[in-house]
Amino acid sequence: MSELKDFKCPNCGGRLEFDTKTQKLKCPYCDGTFDPEIFDEGNNYTVSTEHWEDDNIVVYTCESCGGTIMADKDTAASSCPYCGNPVVMVSNVSGIYKPKKVIPFLLDKKQAKERYRQHLKGKVLLPAKFRSEAVIDEMKGIYVPYWLFGGKANARMWFDATKVRHWNEGDYMCTETSYYKLFRSGAVRFAGVPVDASTKVDDALTESIEPFDLDKAKGFNDSYLAGFFADKYDISAEESRQKANSRIANSTSSLFSSTTGMYDTCIPSSSTISISQGSQDYVMYPVWLLNVDYEGKKYTFAMNGQTGKFVGDLPVDNGKLIGISTGVFAGVTLLVSVIQYLLYLVR
Ligand SMILES: [Zn+2]
Ligand SMILES: [Zn+2]
Repeated sequence: MSELKDFKCPNCGGRLEFDTKTQKLKCPYCDGTFDPEIFDEGNNYTVSTEHWEDDNIVVYTCESCGGTIMADKDTAASSCPYCGNPVVMVSNVSGIYKPKKVIPFLLDKKQAKERYRQHLKGKVLLPAKFRSEAVIDEMKGIYVPYWLFGGKANARMWFDATKVRHWNEGDYMCTETSYYKLFRSGAVRFAGVPVDASTKVDDALTESIEPFDLDKAKGFNDSYLAGFFADKYDISAEESRQKANSRIANSTSSLFSSTTGMYDTCIPSSSTISISQGSQDYVMYPVWLLNVDYEGKKYTFAMNGQTGKFVGDLPVDNGKLIGISTGVFAGVTLLVSVIQYLLYLVR
């Protein structure tokens, strides 16, 4: 059974939200702050249960206002659309879905919006929609589920390499090319290789805002999610393992290649990399996300909620582009007439 959980202020009963500045839960009514650790599983803050469920949508009742909260089956944290009450879907962060660790948000919504606005600076061809405050306010803090893998790669790599020497002998220019067969072997240990465990967030996007600093992670406690959004994983560890292995193989291969710098050319000819499995952990990483639909296409801005590293694709406003090309065209026309005028004068 799915249950909804929110975090009541022990002083006044107000709904608590996680505060990035103090890294504690904060009450917006009495300004009380509380350590996330006090809201462990022993405390019963359960407020409501689902009433029906279809394949993908689960419906919850908000205890604070009685409103209906409809959520995707993978949603682990959300807020009531009517009163803003932050809620956590207990069954999606417990049992096999309980993360081992969480990196709490260090940057708040204001900072994410500011970074986005800076990203827009100087982009004159951008459609006005992207600068609209109402659109920018849709920026959401989302905990993205990740699998972290450890492992050991045993690798043997062969390279074809050359060294080239040039010198002059009288009228002759001589070239000597020496050919080498290189061999490298060794073992590399990996820890914390991340793989995005949600199909809802584009892998290319999450990969471009990595790395996250796992040293700053906390033991998971669902009160960290209060005031943010979260999804549980919908890609299993087994499915993700393959991706982690290919990341491990690529890193091993570039590490070995980096030891062949003393040759003029060096091409890998063959390699065997075998990976033995190590640890496997489920974690949640903080990401600020803004999706903007424009002319049938989705544009996404994503920012690492811990480091501020961001990525964002933006469209060009075709209307504005035509305006500018016309300007350039007019300039060229003018230049042509000046030349014609000069020719006329010369005649
Ligand atoms: Zn309070
Ligand atoms: Zn509500």
